[in-house]
Amino acid sequence: MTRLIFLGPPGAGKGTQAQRLAEVLRIPHISTGEILRSAVADKTPLGQKAQAYMDRGELVPDELLLDLIGDRLNQPDAEKGWILDGFPRNVSQASFLEKLLQELNQTCNCAINLEVPDEILLDRLLGRGRLDDTPETIRTRLEVYRHQTAPVIEFYRERALLRIIDGDRPMEEVTDSLEQVIMS
Ligand code: AMP
Repeated sequence: MTRLIFLGPPGAGKGTQAQRLAEVLRIPHISTGEILRSAVADKTPLGQKAQAYMDRGELVPDELLLDLIGDRLNQPDAEKGWILDGFPRNVSQASFLEKLLQELNQTCNCAINLEVPDEILLDRLLGRGRLDDTPETIRTRLEVYRHQTAPVIEFYRERALLRIIDGDRPMEEVTDSLEQVIMS
């Protein structure tokens, strides 16, 4: 059973790697960013509440996401395992997830931090062309990452669940390393 949490700054390649692994392992890839982007596109109540935060590169408030994650991990397809990409993004989300998994009687295998130097992240984010990838929101998202998301790394380190992978390498090499970590 594979249950993985993908950490790492914006532009580290989390989405791409999580997607690839989920396909290989035939388990759902649960990306809160994607869920939110489709809610915005569909103009759902969630999307309408989340959009302004996303446009600014800030985190959307926890209360918009916590029930959503609970519901998603309760879906039948998540019984086979899952890869979480973009959640948890702060320590309170990490504590929430820890309790949720206890309630569901699930344990995650590990939290993987994809490490990539800042200057490479900037190049990648500027080159990706997503609507929320303007120079200003990119700056905000990197700040938000440093202040709110980086402490989540320590959260998992303290629980001996942290695995670090060098994300500054060709995509295939990163995927190989990830597969080795999961098999070990
Ligand atoms: P991502 O695709 O993971 O880069 O997420 C895009 C945007 O969605 C972020 O900049 C946040 O505004 C929002 N978002 C995604 N996941 C979360 C989360 N776990 N908590 C708060 N906001 C999130």
